[in-house]
Amino acid sequence: MEKVELEQCYRCWQYGHIKEKCQNKDDRSDACRCGGAGNKVKDCQGSNYCLGCRSDGHMVGTGRCPQFREALSRARLNQRQKREGREMNGVSLGVCMNE
Ligand SMILES: [Zn+2]
Ligand SMILES: [Zn+2]
Ligand SMILES: [Zn+2]
Repeated sequence: MEKVELEQCYRCWQYGHIKEKCQNKDDRSDACRCGGAGNKVKDCQGSNYCLGCRSDGHMVGTGRCPQFREALSRARLNQRQKREGREMNGVSLGVCMNE
C-alpha cells in the first residue's frame, strides 16, 4: 500500500486543505469528537460524530468516513499523476542527452 499524504483541516475538519489555508467561515476547532463544543474529548460521554461529513457513528479522519475515503483516493490519484509526470520528464531528458 503506497503512502498518501492527505491534508486535514483542524479548524473546519474538512479534507484536502490545512488550517492555515482554511477558507471556511465555520470554525469548529474547539469541537469534540461528539461534535459538541465545550467538553473535553477525554471526558466526553457523547457518541462519535464525524465533523467531516456531519454524520453520526464514526470519527472524522478514519476509514469509516466516506468523505475521507473519497479524499484519500483523490489524493492518491494526484500523487500518481505527479509521479508519472516526473517519470515522463525523466525519459524526455534522457533522450535529449543522448542526442
Ligand atoms: Zn478548513
Ligand atoms: Zn464530546
Ligand atoms: Zn465522516
